[in-house]
Amino acid sequence: MTTLYGAVDSVLPALTELLGERLSTASAVREHRGHDESGFKTVPPDAVAFAHSTEEVSAIVKICARHKIPVIAYGTGTAIEGHVQALRGGVCIDLSGMDRIVEVNPEDMDCTVQAGVTRMQLESHLRDTGLFFPVDPGADASLGGMAATSASGTNAVRYGTMKENVLSLKVVMADGRIIRTGTRAKKSSAGYDLTHLFIGSEGTLGIITEVTLRLHGLQEAISSAVCSFPSVDDAINMVILTIQSGIPIARIELLDGLMMHAINRYSKMDYPEQPHLFLEFHGSAASVKEQAEAVQELASEFGGGNFSWATRSEERNRLWKARHDAYPAALQLQPGTRAITTDVCVPISRLAECIRETREDIDRASMPIVMLGHVGDGNFHLAILPHPDRPQDIEEAEALNHRLVRRALALDGTCSGEHGIGQGKIGFLEEQNPEGVVLMRQLKQTLDPDNLLNPGKVLRMD
Ligand SMILES: Cc1cc2nc3c(=O)[nH]c(=O)nc-3n(C[C@H](O)[C@H](O)[C@H](O)COP(=O)(O)OP(=O)(O)OC[C@H]3O[C@@H](n4cnc5c(N)ncnc54)[C@H](O)[C@@H]3O)c2cc1C
Repeated sequence: MTTLYGAVDSVLPALTELLGERLSTASAVREHRGHDESGFKTVPPDAVAFAHSTEEVSAIVKICARHKIPVIAYGTGTAIEGHVQALRGGVCIDLSGMDRIVEVNPEDMDCTVQAGVTRMQLESHLRDTGLFFPVDPGADASLGGMAATSASGTNAVRYGTMKENVLSLKVVMADGRIIRTGTRAKKSSAGYDLTHLFIGSEGTLGIITEVTLRLHGLQEAISSAVCSFPSVDDAINMVILTIQSGIPIARIELLDGLMMHAINRYSKMDYPEQPHLFLEFHGSAASVKEQAEAVQELASEFGGGNFSWATRSEERNRLWKARHDAYPAALQLQPGTRAITTDVCVPISRLAECIRETREDIDRASMPIVMLGHVGDGNFHLAILPHPDRPQDIEEAEALNHRLVRRALALDGTCSGEHGIGQGKIGFLEEQNPEGVVLMRQLKQTLDPDNLLNPGKVLRMD
């Protein structure tokens, strides 16, 4: 499918008429939307359209479709695989102005938000309702972007990812049609599962304008802890046993010794600079106590000690803020660097093997590399920190990432647990599931025959 794209001048008058000053061709505005948090180079769109409603998104897409102009959705730009670059030019639709919480239904434990609402905005809106939304990527991403990338985070081990927590979506299709993929019903066997078709589609099949989310009741008791281990191997073996024992742990996060050193420096903490698990338990007071005791016992079998507990919400928030600041903390280890971030996920029984081999690779590397991860799900990341003035570091980092992905695939894992494909992992997706990619291309061709929606991402179409 090779599309001859139109010239953006053909749509500017109609878009200006529709949006007035909310259409911008200013270079600073375009540059900003031409990159995400990855090291991929900036490729600015030709224009940025700031939409305020589903109807406006639909009108913008219709105008662009008529003239064969690519359209790239933009939430908060925190993706890390080169997701938002305008590789074929075109119009970026910035959804940050679609920041209305449409409704909260406490009796059904769900809510509907516009796509530009961020997770922290939702969190503060839900304060005092007794409800919360559990999916928490480290960044303050938009709910539309989180659905589009099938995001998850520290709570996924207990509450699931966006896939388990989205009930329905409102989506603008490539021709401008508006569809709703589901309802607020908790379950449905009505036809094909359109909701999950769009989750993880990274703006290549449609533009999400509203998201209906499943909410969860706040727990009676919450307790967090950090615990150090003699080695990463010990920490991982303890995690595997915790998951296999069916302890309903809410968070279980690995940070290696170098990562702890970076966190101590950045967040002014004084943890021992050894591998750590950050843990959290949710439930009734009795069940939290029971879970904590069981986990402490397991930890002691693997040399885990120095449990430091946080039960008051300010202490817990400080602990998890340090975890969520891991990325900027890691960057300080190599000032001026653009980190290469990896993201694999393997079945829990293969995690120790995957991590052991990866650590051998890290030990041979010539640059700092930190390891951290949502290990209860079998998901972990490296932040590889090439020296800004040594181009050979990038080559070495990419080779290490390739080996890591191939290792995960050989263990029946996936090339991306939560960050998605963007432009960075197209080849790996093909390696992981060649037959599946053929079907994905057929779907893309049916839903977006002119390859207008975020071209150059997820799949090779031309
Ligand atoms: C410090 C840091 C920590 C992170 N931690 C995690 C983590 O723990 N877990 C995790 O899953 N991710 C994590 N991420 C990655 C990132 O936050 C997620 O991928 C997030 O879901 C992206 O949301 P966004 O609003 O920033 O989307 P953007 O970056 O703006 O866009 C991402 C992709 O989604 C598409 N898109 C955006 N909005 C829409 C829409 N409304 N409709 C259709 N397509 C759309 C874009 O076209 C693009 O392809 C982290 C990133 C950083 C920088």
